[in-house]
Amino acid sequence: MTSEPLLRIAGLSSGYGRVGVLEDVDLEVDAREIVVILGPNGAGKTTLLNSISGVARPTAGSIHFEGRDITGARPEQVVRLGLTHCPEGRQIFQRLTVEENLVAAHIGRAGKSFETLRSEVFELFPVLRERRNGMASRMSGGQQQMLAIGRALMAEPKLLMLDEPSLGLAPKIVHQIFRIILDLSKTGMSILLVEQNVQLALECGDYGYLLNTGRVKLHGPAQEMAEHSALGEHYLGGA
Ligand code: ATP
Repeated sequence: MTSEPLLRIAGLSSGYGRVGVLEDVDLEVDAREIVVILGPNGAGKTTLLNSISGVARPTAGSIHFEGRDITGARPEQVVRLGLTHCPEGRQIFQRLTVEENLVAAHIGRAGKSFETLRSEVFELFPVLRERRNGMASRMSGGQQQMLAIGRALMAEPKLLMLDEPSLGLAPKIVHQIFRIILDLSKTGMSILLVEQNVQLALECGDYGYLLNTGRVKLHGPAQEMAEHSALGEHYLGGA
């Protein structure tokens, strides 16, 4: 008997207005799993996350979360169900302090108090406690990425979607971010991770999908994906 995955995407086509991007995408995320989405620029990785979080509009197929149909649900509905999207480019409030950024992200979804959630975020990212009264704009790129993840955690996600969290960061910070992703998964959270750092992402992940031109070209356990010779071809433009 197979149980229902936490997230189940079936036959999904999606895009922006009349622009179709994704075509016939199937993808699953189980509880406590780290699923990695790989693919070259423009493959549709961000659009996939946008489709789940209610930003891009599905035109065919379905998205189920905990067995509930969320196809075409609005972003505020999706986040309340426990799916949080930490977008590419660290969309934090630059002119607010760290603390104010966290306040603004607290939606009281599953009942933990602001103080409890803030303590959990500070535990993961001690630098945010040190800089709590500092302006976000004055922090380094790595610290801003930590704040972006901290903000996502304030919504108490069951499934955290991270879009290129390592983008533009120094290797030491990248390793720190990946360690945190593994720690979060050990607490029972599921993670859907879009990454351009293929090697690290597949070391950290359980399962991988390779997207190219809006379609899933390969998928499998992360270790098998890492060994797959076709992975490089897709990055070099072979569709
Ligand atoms: P990258 O690694 O460059 O971020 P990606 O795999 O995340 O790439 P997407 O950002 O999903 O790819 O883009 C897929 C396609 O959708 C691209 O052709 C892009 O130009 C197009 N696209 C993205 N956002 C929009 C939008 N808001 N309106 C119209 N087209 C868009």
